[in-house]
Amino acid sequence: MHQANGNHACPSYLFHQGSAPLLISMPHVGTHLPPAIAERLTAGALQVPDTDWHLERLYAFARDMGASILMATHSRYVVDLNRPPDGASLYPGQNVTGLCPVDMFDEQPLYADNGHTPSDAEIARRRQAYWQPYHDRLGSELARLKAEYGRAVLWDAHSIRSVLPRFFEGRLPDFNLGTADGKSCDPALAQRLLEIAGQAPNHSSVLNGRFKGGYITRHYGQPEQGVHAVQLELTQCSYMQEALPFDYLPERAAQIQPTLKRLLETVLEFGQAGGHGLASGLTRGAAR
Ligand SMILES: [Zn+2]
Repeated sequence: MHQANGNHACPSYLFHQGSAPLLISMPHVGTHLPPAIAERLTAGALQVPDTDWHLERLYAFARDMGASILMATHSRYVVDLNRPPDGASLYPGQNVTGLCPVDMFDEQPLYADNGHTPSDAEIARRRQAYWQPYHDRLGSELARLKAEYGRAVLWDAHSIRSVLPRFFEGRLPDFNLGTADGKSCDPALAQRLLEIAGQAPNHSSVLNGRFKGGYITRHYGQPEQGVHAVQLELTQCSYMQEALPFDYLPERAAQIQPTLKRLLETVLEFGQAGGHGLASGLTRGAAR
């Protein structure tokens, strides 16, 4: 069922090929830490608290919709798949974590001994071993979808704790849609998604607020080339416990899954309208 890549004990990603013009990428769901890295980390870091937990379970329904799904296996502490390969900041001037982070979201150090942070040579090895294979697969799957359907939609799925003073003030809205300030997907599609998120009972939403889409959204989203990318950063309190042991909360998740499903149905119909123009896809999406 899954195709895996790599000769390591742990493959560098997991991939499920679907039957529709939609690819869901989950670059931060991985929890694996290779032993040579794990032995240098603090006890707190070994709990990988900054993982986008349980997204595979939350989005399980997407397989039945025909979506392809690409999932990271390694922790973002090994290499961050949603950062540019040169390590450039996504949000210049703001406090951010890098390609191979050296601290956690709470600003505690990842490495027990400062001398054990990765050298430039180690960063290059990690990029080659884990970052590159994920992106090779992402790029080739989008190309396949575009060739087959005339259009491809990329949904970059994330989640984050709702309160993180390092990155934003106060409490984050629940549904944070990001389209690189309108550059990564058709603007009419983005507006339709914001409307749908806005109808989620007891949940808040925003388009291109604090999270505008990371490297994956910005790099692959090329609407003029027929590839439309959207990032959804979801508050973890919408479906799970935000503190250890980070349990999935099925009853809470069930409250947002209908909205997630409508969002994905809308992008899927937009993708299926490839070659038939934007209007038909959005009209059918709106008719539900
Ligand atoms: Zn994430």
